[in-house]
Amino acid sequence: IHRFSVVPTAPPDAILGLTEAFKADTNPAKMNLSVGVYKDETGQTPILDVVKAAEKVILETETTKGYLSIDGMPDYRDQVRELVFGETVDANRVAVLQSPGGTGALRVAADFMVAQLPKARIWIPSPTWANHPAIFTAAGLPSDTYRYLGDDRTSLDLDGMLQALREQAAPGDAVLLHGCCHNPTGVDPSPADWQQIASVIAEKQLLPLIDFAYQGFGDGVEEDAAGLRTILNAVDEAMVCTSFSKNFGLYSERVGAVSLVAADQAARDASLSQLKRVIRCNYSNPPRHGAAIVATVLSDPELTAQWRQELEAMRVRITQLRQQFVSAMQQRGHDFGFLLKQKGMFSFSGLNPMQVDELKSKHGIYIVGSGRINVAGMIESKMDVFCDAVASVI
Ligand code: PLP
Repeated sequence: IHRFSVVPTAPPDAILGLTEAFKADTNPAKMNLSVGVYKDETGQTPILDVVKAAEKVILETETTKGYLSIDGMPDYRDQVRELVFGETVDANRVAVLQSPGGTGALRVAADFMVAQLPKARIWIPSPTWANHPAIFTAAGLPSDTYRYLGDDRTSLDLDGMLQALREQAAPGDAVLLHGCCHNPTGVDPSPADWQQIASVIAEKQLLPLIDFAYQGFGDGVEEDAAGLRTILNAVDEAMVCTSFSKNFGLYSERVGAVSLVAADQAARDASLSQLKRVIRCNYSNPPRHGAAIVATVLSDPELTAQWRQELEAMRVRITQLRQQFVSAMQQRGHDFGFLLKQKGMFSFSGLNPMQVDELKSKHGIYIVGSGRINVAGMIESKMDVFCDAVASVI
């Protein structure tokens, strides 16, 4: 018998599949604004200078490639705790475990919830990153959606969100929040909105799971943690998934962390032991190199300052690209002013699937079917060509 002859072909990943199609496209003017990676003005995804500097240090000082412990490098875990939580929670209530990227962190969090919170379901925003429901389904964690975006598709429907959480979620359920730079919309809650979200989460006794994949891409490293810290000031328990793929440009090194905040140290220790169990039978222990880079940078004030500067340059450039796009579209008679309020790499452009398709087939311009644009994928020198194409399909 040939068992594999009856295996059906899986559909290509909605976003990574587009990159495959992009690579195969022979149009010399092609542009890829789909996948969420930062690109510089030459269209490359650069290695940060500070990463190269840290790698030099590591090359000289590293003495072993022996296994890390299940929860990763101690220095790294301390640095992540400070970067994410600051002074908000007592260190002895927090467990930080190094993970392979933000995706690995989400999967570990989901596996932990399935094992330890068997009645919980997780409420996820609609829309959200397509991999969120996929990860939760793969782990066997039931999920449901809450309203996030208003009918204009460019602003937060805070009332709709709070109403869904108040009326539909059950005490003990988890709620997924994007810490900043909501993917795919770029629409973030204001500080006052975060206060209200925190109150409802506390009142309904929901467990916040905060996906924090873009720290530093919204308003700044500290500023972007404000929403998360508002939530943590209102509740005793939370989980956070960190990624350094974007803000250190360490995409392929797979470096992230899953953090758990417990009510006290004993609960933290027990939960940590269970999180380690989840990891042990999955990938056993995390990869060293990416975490060594992050720990080397964050434990050295000069390298940290350099990292913050390079991250700030990426953040500012994305803001400038938003401004250039909006004014270029204005010159063509189209108002995209809402993009200026949105944060991070992504925006919902409002383009419909037909228009997205036409951009691809006629102009070699690749954006996600939902109309999500990776603003960081725009290139200054091609802005006019891009805007002419967008104007021609509207
Ligand atoms: N969460 C969100 C919202 C993301 O957009 C991404 C990456 O695109 C991730 C998590 C995970 O990133 P990675 O696994 O590459 O660190």
